[in-house]
Amino acid sequence: MKECLFCKIADGSISADKAYEDEDVIAFHDVNPQAPVHILVIPRKHITSINEIAEMDNRVLKRMFVVLRDLAIENKIDGDGYRTVINTGLKAGQSVDHLHMHLLGGRSMSWPPG
Ligand code: AMP
Repeated sequence: MKECLFCKIADGSISADKAYEDEDVIAFHDVNPQAPVHILVIPRKHITSINEIAEMDNRVLKRMFVVLRDLAIENKIDGDGYRTVINTGLKAGQSVDHLHMHLLGGRSMSWPPG
């Protein structure tokens, strides 16, 4: 996807503060953090949102969860708790049309979200 911001971060043409990368998944610190720990975990492959997930994406989706869990441990937020968010579509507040999981932690959080 030529004009996708997160594809450009994935291929290195736009820089990001990377926390992890492998052949399937990249994680980087959110540029506008909403918590002491705020990391985005994305598939290297362009998937627009949960709505576009396909059967063949099984491996990368599982990998995203494992990477997110490992980053929670690495950032020492696994014990106290953390929030995982995937916004899908306009009303949910998805602002970048490339699937991403937010890993948020290091502070108390309320429910319901805004
Ligand atoms: P969402 O609103 O769920 O689509 O989340 C998109 C997130 O991407 C927001 O939290 C933004 O702060 C974050 N973001 C946008 N551009 C960048 C960037 N260049 N590097 C890191 N995070 C970004």
